[in-house]
Order: sequence, then structure tokens, then C-alpha cells
Amino acid sequence: MSPKELELLCVQPEMCLRDALLRMDLAGRGILLMIDKDGTLVRTLTDGDLRRAILKGFVDASLLGALPVSRPITVNEAADAADVLRVMDAHQIDHLPVLDTDVKPVDVIFRRELSQRIWLSSPHLGDEETAFVDEAFKSNWIAPMGPHVNAFETELASHVGVGHAAAVSSGTAAIHLGLLLLGVKSGDTVFCSSLTFVGSCNPILYCGARPVFIDSEPSTWNMSPAALEQALEWAKRDNRLPACVILVNLYGQSADMDALLPICERYGVPVLEDAAESLGATYKGKSSGTFGRIAVYSFNGNKIITTSGGGMLVSDDPDLVVRARKLATQAREPAAHYEHVEMGFNYRMSNVLAGIGRGQLRVLKQRVVQRRRVFERYQEAFADLAQIHWMPEPEGYHSTRWLTCFTLTGPDASQKCRHVMKALERHLIEARPVWKPMHLQPLFHGAPYFAHAPGMDVSAHLFQAGICLPSGSNLSETEQDRVMDHLRHALTMGEKSHAFA
Ligand SMILES: *Cc1c(COP(=O)(O)O)cnc(C)c1O
Repeated sequence: MSPKELELLCVQPEMCLRDALLRMDLAGRGILLMIDKDGTLVRTLTDGDLRRAILKGFVDASLLGALPVSRPITVNEAADAADVLRVMDAHQIDHLPVLDTDVKPVDVIFRRELSQRIWLSSPHLGDEETAFVDEAFKSNWIAPMGPHVNAFETELASHVGVGHAAAVSSGTAAIHLGLLLLGVKSGDTVFCSSLTFVGSCNPILYCGARPVFIDSEPSTWNMSPAALEQALEWAKRDNRLPACVILVNLYGQSADMDALLPICERYGVPVLEDAAESLGATYKGKSSGTFGRIAVYSFNGNKIITTSGGGMLVSDDPDLVVRARKLATQAREPAAHYEHVEMGFNYRMSNVLAGIGRGQLRVLKQRVVQRRRVFERYQEAFADLAQIHWMPEPEGYHSTRWLTCFTLTGPDASQKCRHVMKALERHLIEARPVWKPMHLQPLFHGAPYFAHAPGMDVSAHLFQAGICLPSGSNLSETEQDRVMDHLRHALTMGEKSHAFA
């Protein structure tokens, strides 16, 4: 509910019954909040309350303050959507005022909006997936491998413009295979962007290797070339250069490849590009995921296109991709009797899921347009709020805006972010903090970390002050308007209560 609308719902005891009925009509919510002079909630007034008052003999000119008192049912700001529903059910009511610690109403929640959760990023099917899946069923190709898997690999490789692709069971599996193919062994070190999802770096541990985390730069939120250079210099001094660098492309946007790749080349360290979040993006006209010696995509349910779960390893080197397929199928040697020389994995994608992927690939371009449109609507709606800083998209980058993210400015940004996310959650809207950097995760406690500049931990700041908003390509404008209303309300109310404090 917008601050304006909340104001419209608030009436004082000196208002007469007739004016209250007119106000109720104007606000159109079936409820008013009666507040006293210092703004604290005295009671709620429903249509029914006003009607019953008239039946009891109160007249148009009677003052609201004269009506029989009834204790309001409310929740405080700590309540989440489940708490709200519980209270509504217990009291058989469909609306619930939210009070701050001064007993002042800061919001009203209506049951209607709690019937439909708004997700951060939900699957969005096109028209052709079921036909491909049906075909898999009809031809009895319900197997890991099959014609859809081969076709999905070829179609994806040609879509992004890379030589070869191997479809696997997840993006994480693809990264694991990628590390093995680049020769990562137990005891090696691997560099990785700190600001990412844990799927980027869990495979480092699978290999028995040790991660070293690299900070982000403010202009792309992706790996800082300055921090990378420093880390490589440090590693070289100790004569333990990393076996590879995992470059992550965050939230639909490429890292600065023209700055990062030459650094890695200079030290002779291969790059594994984690493009799990950036399928469909371009950097200086070239597809994200075509820069590393090996790159991976993810088709997890929340990604820009999905197979419900799945991933792809891509490379221009055919030998690497052939080896990836072999390792992903238990490293079977080409012999009828299942000969094995090396350790393998069961990582192949199923033919059924590849069918979904083929259908999804056909709508990828559309999905990029839709996600960017979601971002643009947010940006336009909050153009007046200087405290919001959207994730930048530098010249030459074309982000998919997989997730719309922003940071808040000011010393209380972190506190405000928590307030905003709590408020959205109360309305069943999923917003999340920006990824918690890996160098701050207990799992990686003690791992070396290189910041962007002395005293400037960019990824930690983005985590503290950043929020990801619902960004799905199937987010309706009505749903997005609901998010924007509540976001504006939370941001501006937050300011107000802060001013009071
Ligand atoms: C989703 C994701 C992964 C892992 O992909 P899965 O398919 O979920 O295993 C890896 N890295 C990043 C940056 C991701 O967002």
C-alpha cells in the first residue's frame, strides 16, 4: 500500500459518520483506521461497523469517537506473511493493520494479495516444450542421452556461437567437469569471484583444491581486474599460480573480459567462465559464455531458461567437450564390456529434460527482452529516488537483467535493506539480498581474499546494501505494480520512522 493510500485510510475520532462513509467509498478498501492526535491506532472501522452503528441509531452527524470501542487486531513489523495469515484466520478477518513500535499504522495487508506469491524468478515455459517432451515419451527415449540431448547441444552451441557443447545434469556438475578438464588436482589453488552463488566454487572443494577469492569492481559487480592482478602477483611470488580462474558473470551481465582475460593470459592461467546467470547476454557483441577456455550455463528452475535442472559445458576445443561427455557418463571406454581406466561421474542430462531445453532455447531472445523490460519499468518507476543505485550496465555490455538489483546509499543502507525485504515478505513478495560473498561464508573461512582496493571491500558492500527484486519474464505488470507499491512504501516509511527515531 502506498503512503498516500495509507493516509487516505486514516481518519480521526472527530470525523462524522457521513464523512467516514464517503471516505470509505473513496478509498475503496472496505476499511478505515481511526487514529488519535499523535497518530497511534485506536481502532479499525469496517463497512459492517459503520452499518451497525446506523442500525443502533447513530446518525450522519455522529462522531466516530462516539462509536462503541473495539480493540483493533494488528500485527507488528516483525510479522511475516505466515504470521499475518494465522492472525487473519484466527479472527476471521481479511485485512490487518501493521503497527510500528509506537503503535502507529505503517501498512495494511489484505488477504486477497496473500493468495498469490510473487517469486524472484520463476520458470516460464514457451509453446514448444511439451511437443519435444511428448516426442521423447512416444519414442521411448527416457534416458540420459538421446536425440534431444544431441540436438540441444548443437542448437545451444550455434545459438551462442561456440564450437561444442555437452549437456549435463546441472551447472555445478558442468563446473566440476570443467575444473577436471583444466587439470585441477588435489592441493591446487583455484581463483574464483567472491560475489557469486556457492555453485561456482563448491566444485573447487570436490577436486580437493583450495579456493582464493577475488573481489568485485563497482562498475560491473563482477571480478575486479585490480584485485585479480594483485592475487596473481602474490601467487607468483610464492610460486603457486592457480590451476585456473573461475570468472563469474553475475545477474545476467558479463565480467569485463577485455581487462580480465589478458591478465590471466599473462600469467598463463586458463579461464573457466561461469555463465550460469548470463546466458543470452553479450559483451562487445559476443555472447557471454564464449570467452573462457571452458564456459558453463545452468538451466536450474530460476535461471533465464530452464530444464527444471540442468547445465551445459561449452568450449571451442572439441577434445575438451568429448572428454566432458565421457567423464559425465562414468568415464566408459569405447568397449562393449564397460571398460574403465579412470574415475567418472553420472552427470549426463536426460533426454526428457533436453526436450524442455530445446523448447526453452527457442524463446531465449524473447526472455531477454522481457527481463530487460521488467528492469526498465522498475527504473522508470523509481527515477525520483536518488537513494536507489541500479546495478550498472557499462557501454558495450548487454545484460539480460536476469535479476533486477540495486543498492541503497547512506550509512543506514544495510538496515534499510533488511526493513524493505521484511516488508515485501509480509506481502508474500520474494526479494533477496545480493549474494553473500564467498569470503564471508563459514564454509570458506580462512580462504585468502583479495579486495578491489585497500580498505575497499566491494562485494561485502554490495551484499550489505543490495537487494534483488522479482524479475521473472512472466511477472505481469499488475504483479510488478504491486511490488513497486510496496517497495516505495517500505523505502519512504523507513525514512519516516528513521526521522522520528
Ligand atoms: C545457478 C548457478 C550455478 C549452479 O548451477 P546449478 O545448475 O544450479 O547447479 C553456478 N554458478 C552461478 C553463478 C549460478 O547462479
